[in-house]
Amino acid sequence: MTANTATSTATAPSSLKMNLFDLLKNILPFVKPYRWLVIITLVLTFAGSLMAQVNAVVLDRAVDTINELMQTTFAWSEATRLLAAISAILLGKEVLSAFVTFGQRYYGEKMRILVSRDLSLKVVDQILRFRMAFFSAEDNETGKLQSRIDRGIQSLSNTVNNFFIEILPLFTSAIFALILMFAANVYVGLVALCIVPIYFYLTYVQANHLKGWRRNIFGSHQAVSQGILNIIESISVIKSFNREDIESARQAAIQKAMTEQQMNTRRMSFFFNGLKSFFEQIGTVLIIILTAYLVLTDYPGMSIGKIMYHVMLFANVSAPIRQLHRIYDDMNDALIYAEGFFGILHAHDEIEDSGSYHPERVEGTFEMRDVDFTYSNGTKALTGVNLRIEQGKITALVGLSGAGKSTIVNLLDKFYHPDSGTVSLDGHELKDWDTQWLRENIGLVLQKNHIFSGSIEENILYGCPGATHDDVVKAAKQAYIYDQIMQLPNGFESQALQLSGGQQQRIAIARMFIKNPPIIFLDEPTASLDAIATEQIKASIDAIKAGRTVIIISHNIGQIIDADQIYVLQKGHVVQSGTPSEVYHQGGLYKDIFDASARSMNVDKIADTIDGQV
Ligand code: ADP
Repeated sequence: MTANTATSTATAPSSLKMNLFDLLKNILPFVKPYRWLVIITLVLTFAGSLMAQVNAVVLDRAVDTINELMQTTFAWSEATRLLAAISAILLGKEVLSAFVTFGQRYYGEKMRILVSRDLSLKVVDQILRFRMAFFSAEDNETGKLQSRIDRGIQSLSNTVNNFFIEILPLFTSAIFALILMFAANVYVGLVALCIVPIYFYLTYVQANHLKGWRRNIFGSHQAVSQGILNIIESISVIKSFNREDIESARQAAIQKAMTEQQMNTRRMSFFFNGLKSFFEQIGTVLIIILTAYLVLTDYPGMSIGKIMYHVMLFANVSAPIRQLHRIYDDMNDALIYAEGFFGILHAHDEIEDSGSYHPERVEGTFEMRDVDFTYSNGTKALTGVNLRIEQGKITALVGLSGAGKSTIVNLLDKFYHPDSGTVSLDGHELKDWDTQWLRENIGLVLQKNHIFSGSIEENILYGCPGATHDDVVKAAKQAYIYDQIMQLPNGFESQALQLSGGQQQRIAIARMFIKNPPIIFLDEPTASLDAIATEQIKASIDAIKAGRTVIIISHNIGQIIDADQIYVLQKGHVVQSGTPSEVYHQGGLYKDIFDASARSMNVDKIADTIDGQV
């Protein structure tokens, strides 16, 4: 990851541009199941907003009554009654308010947690259904995808929470306060109302200024996640080459760009917030001056109590407005993160398709006709490939690295679809096959198989979750790993990830044995193994070859010459095909690879050694 990549990812993660309406429309299905929570919260919000005006009303009445008391004959008994009434109302309101606020926060939080859980479940389900091409796209590298999902869920569920426990109560309270101000005096109400659009305008300008930067910060977050992930994954290479400084400098470059963006955002925010505070103060001053003027000129319905009343109500009107920029920022964040997040949920064309062809028995004859294939990054991996893989035979794919061998296996497993041409199994195009059934019948052993965190038993059982312990033992024996497992202190319960690379490979092969499919793809299955393990695995693979269709990719000529048929690939083209000896005697690439391989093994000296001449 370079600083360049950091800037190139500093764009919106998805072409899906969202506005507030889209955001609400998208989030609504996740809130709908909890409509009772919504109703309870709305009722509480309504009650809370009414209660928020109580202080202003009480103060208004209290000031006026005290004023009257002072002007007429003062009596302690009346004053005490007044104070008792004020205390009772205010305390009673606070107690009620505490319950309402608790309810609002509790139900709002409950909704956030539930919505967040549903969003996570939905996105995981969706990702599991995506085709492989989705994961090989540059925008969907692990770190970026993870950051897009994490931040999407966090920001969206916070939006739901904020809406119910902040935005809605504040705005409802502001509307009630405005209504009361208008009811008391139209002019005062109008002054309060006029200030509101100024805040909205300032917030709008501020948000527009910040939008681009916030989007860039989002891109930088993704770049940082990906960068850290890359460092962890490549730590042994970084250390062995002593390249810690270079990696550190790369991270510093990404962080520097992000810091600048963050500082710009903050600077702009502080400037606008100051401006808005200034206008809020102007609003308060105007309200005081106007109400005082109306009181002094004996305007009907105006009394000293109204000065405090209007100031307190105006504070309720401006409270949400004061929060407006934060709400706006949160909303903008939610919009940006929602773009990335819902981009994943709406990527319906990334969902792996499945046909309905589901024969009782799979024979195992594959055919590729005029197949062209290009990866999403533009690499053309196959051109005009024609080949036939016979049922029950062993077919080897041979060629230098990058020739397109694994790509063929990817296409045969329906991980990818060809750009043009057809891939078929038993006379039916793969696109018509029920994808799950197809893969049920294929065993795939790769050069580096994925071993999950968990016990050896769990890892083998992954091939056939319903199998018994005896089946697991049998599969382990077939994969020549049983004895080694039994030597471990915890046997089959030992952590599979603690095994060596070669042992993990045999666990993966045992996993395939237990699956027992009629078709087997072996993509350099012994590349990371020592000679003894290679021989043992070769023996176990030989044992299950009988009656199955096997496709093997290998650089090991010992495995290739066992094949019934070989296809030689060069730069995405099939350049030779036939039995190993036929193709060898044609000359060309296969002969070159074969001879080079024999020479590199120093076959003559090996033979002499075995004969005892050296
Ligand atoms: P082989 O198995 O013969 O070594 P591959 O089939 O893996 O070759 O690769 C064929 C070409 O496709 C290579 O140029 C390789 O870089 C490219 N390629 C392989 N996998 C991907 C991928 N997921 N995304 C983009 N290009 C890829």
